[in-house]
Amino acid sequence: MDGARHIVSLHRGRYAVKNVRGGYVVLDPHGRIVAKGFVDHARADAKRDRLQAEADTVAKRGKRPCISCARTFDSEGIHNRMCPTCRLRNSDGWNPHGLARRGGRPG
Ligand SMILES: [Zn+2]
Repeated sequence: MDGARHIVSLHRGRYAVKNVRGGYVVLDPHGRIVAKGFVDHARADAKRDRLQAEADTVAKRGKRPCISCARTFDSEGIHNRMCPTCRLRNSDGWNPHGLARRGGRPG
């Protein structure tokens, strides 16, 4: 299933549509109403998608090639440039602290 993808989208800066009395509102990632008065769910969705796209552009989220293996992946932002596979491999087999301490003081 696409469960993993869904979990990510629950957090990190996602806009949402909420059903309120008499229609729909669009909430920003902090839960604030940023657009309201929608009678039609589809219209509220469209608005949310537009806001989301704008926010993603600002945050530089979206598809990006991995700096390590060059495979395209879903980046969480400008800081996120390595695909999950490479990140996992690095945290697993590579110890930056162990390397940094080597050869510090001669004699
Ligand atoms: Zn990679």
